[in-house]
Amino acid sequence: MLEVKELTKHFPVKGKRGRVVHAVDGINFKLRKGETLGLVGESGCGKSTLARTIIRIYEPTSGQVFLKGQDISGLSVRELKPIRKLMQMIFQDPYSSLNARMTIRDIIAEPLRAHKICHTKAEENELVFEMLDMVGLGTEHALRYAHEFSGGQRQRIGIARALILRPELVICDEPISALDVSIQAQIVNLLKKFQEDLNLTYLFIAHDLSMVRYVSDKVGVMYLGHLVELCEAEEIYNNPLHPYTKGLLGSVPIPSPRLARQKKKSEIEGDIPSPISPPSGCRFHTRCKYATERCKAEAPKWQEVTTNHFVACHLHD
Ligand code: SF4
Repeated sequence: MLEVKELTKHFPVKGKRGRVVHAVDGINFKLRKGETLGLVGESGCGKSTLARTIIRIYEPTSGQVFLKGQDISGLSVRELKPIRKLMQMIFQDPYSSLNARMTIRDIIAEPLRAHKICHTKAEENELVFEMLDMVGLGTEHALRYAHEFSGGQRQRIGIARALILRPELVICDEPISALDVSIQAQIVNLLKKFQEDLNLTYLFIAHDLSMVRYVSDKVGVMYLGHLVELCEAEEIYNNPLHPYTKGLLGSVPIPSPRLARQKKKSEIEGDIPSPISPPSGCRFHTRCKYATERCKAEAPKWQEVTTNHFVACHLHD
């Protein structure tokens, strides 16, 4: 369904000629139809930028994105338009991603209008009402405004807007992080149901590792613009290889003081460095307790160390 090759996105730094933010650097992965790839990493590691570059909200600096075998990275806006129907995005914050001046009916119908799907108002209404029903909101809500809904209901509206074009690839950019814990499971279960019913492929961005485990077939770990590890979801929890992945897993809180005391201290120390001047060699070397002189000088290669388990670390050369 999706293949990303050496995808890179740099942003120029205002007022500093020649300097750039290395938001995403040389990312590679493949995603099969119907699969979910969970993408995790600290805030600022480039997860959302990667998602927006794949879907061409941002223009890639270099690299390629193949959707169903077609390279979409160099297409013009006009060439891209029919392809946009195949890939949609669910945004992180349902409080700011819905237009406060539009009714729910118009918000959900907007993609239909942009792609000139319906010929009559009745046809449009039928699709909007069907979608409202699918996300568990009654049609009586159609003429209300976003501020009249709770966070969970707003995210259901965001999902309805993303799915009304019946896309095949859906990018879920932290779709539950702004919601109450009690609502998060409902939204995730709704997304899982749609995946089964509509055979959707998901790129699911999150920083809640337990939720990623629940929804994902594969998990990718990002650090400072690089993908550092990628494998089947269970494998990453049972056999993490990269020191950063181990550190992230070690940081998951345990709801038992006794077990928490037995747990080893997290391997990650200090703050994430600036993406404007990332560390030389392995970008994680400033925080890695296994770092050697080689790590400071030479960037580790992205390699498959066991079947379908990719990692970038000199410890696993
Ligand atoms: Fe640590 Fe070196 Fe591996 Fe980077 S390459 S994660 S610094 S051991």
